[in-house]
Formats: sequence, structure tokens, C-alpha cells
Amino acid sequence: MRISINQQEIDVNPGETILEATRKTGINVPTLCYHEAFGGQGMCRMCMVEVKNGNTTRLVAACTYPIYEEIEVKTSTPAIEKIRRNIVTLLYRTAPKSEFMEKLYKEYNCVENQLSIDQDERCILCRLCVKACEEIGSSAISAIFRGTEKRVSTPFDEAATMCIGCGACAEVCPTDAIELSETDEERTIWNKTFAIVHCERCGQAFTTKEQLDYIVSRTGIESNVANLCEDCRKKNLAARINQFNQ
Ligand code: SF4
Repeated sequence: MRISINQQEIDVNPGETILEATRKTGINVPTLCYHEAFGGQGMCRMCMVEVKNGNTTRLVAACTYPIYEEIEVKTSTPAIEKIRRNIVTLLYRTAPKSEFMEKLYKEYNCVENQLSIDQDERCILCRLCVKACEEIGSSAISAIFRGTEKRVSTPFDEAATMCIGCGACAEVCPTDAIELSETDEERTIWNKTFAIVHCERCGQAFTTKEQLDYIVSRTGIESNVANLCEDCRKKNLAARINQFNQ
């Protein structure tokens, strides 16, 4: 089916979200809580766009709006830019330690800057970290408390038994709010320190013991392959295919 985005006609698949349609067309719609691995959450509202369907015009979150009708979309209007500027102002006040938010704050020409609750805060509560942890099956972190006290943490702020130290939460965080420190031997995240496993073949540090055990239990991967880093696994597979073909 065909829809129009910023007066440009484009083909979309029914059910595709407006955000997906804009991304494949190269039209930029800003997001904070969206990650292509998990889809949209509709939390941050940065991706608000204007949708005209017949005689009705309304603002919707592009990341969660599925397209089933021939709509007209505008991704930038004075009203939309004002919403985005307000969101950026609010989030920068919430997380003034975040360089990422500071950059956005300047990009959007925000003018208001009142004192934030915590000057050291970098988290904007987009919950991408919580989503990532759920997707890998650990659910070790969640949003705790309410109102101005709300934040993401492990249960009782203690080292979470469910955490396998994979670092996926830190990887997806747009504002670098999750502290992860690592040496060749150890990784520390969420108040828990994990021993690092080295590849049996090349010696490269590649994962935590807990993550490796988790992968083995989930996938049933053979133990002689599990202890290899990704590069060595590929080489191992190529060698086995070669052997098979001889
Ligand atoms: S490091 Fe721990 S909290 Fe973060 S995604 Fe992995 S299991 Fe979840």
C-alpha cells in the first residue's frame, strides 16, 4: 500500500510502523527509547509525528503506530518541534550529567535550564536497558520507586542473582548511564563482579562465566565450541565444513 510522508509517496507493508517506514526511506525521526532489536516502546515521545487520516489529524508516536490505511504523515511541524524541545528540556533536567542529552539540548535550542534533582544523573528512564535484559531472558533490572524517585536498578540495589554480566543493558543505553568497568580478568556491572572467560584457542577475553553457562544451557552448544570466541567459532565451523566436503 502507498502512504505519503512529508508529501513523498512511499510503499509500505500493512502493519509496518510509521517509524520503520521513515527509516527505510531515509527520513529522520528522532527517537530515544527505540532500538531496532526490540521495536518501539512509545515511552519517550520524541518520535511524535502528525497523521492525517481522512478529515482527522492527530499526533501519534511513530514507533508504535502500525500503518493499515492510506495516511498522510508529517514528521516535522512547529507543534511537533515544540513537543520535542519540551521533552529534551525535561530529560536534560532529569539527566544533566549525560553528554548525549546535553548535545540534544543544544541541538534543539532549548533555553530553559532549571536545577535538576540530581546533577550527577545520566539516566532518562527510557527503559531500553530493562527491555534488553528481558529479551535475553534475565530480567535482572527494573524501574523501581515512583515519581521523582523512580530509577532503574536491581532488586534492593543488590547484586542481582539473575544478572549474567552480559552488558546488553549498557550496550543499548543511549546516554551511557550504566556503569560497566572491565579488565582482562573481571567485569563489574550493577554491583556485581564477574570473572571473564578467555577463548581456549586464541586466549582473547570474550564473555563472563555466567553468560557462557547461560548460553550453553539455552542453546545446548557443545562445550568444546562454547569456550571459543566468536572468531574462533567461525574458524572452527569453516574447518568442519571443509572436512565434511573432503
Ligand atoms: S548485564 Fe545483567 S542486568 Fe544488564 S542485560 Fe545483562 S543480565 Fe541484564
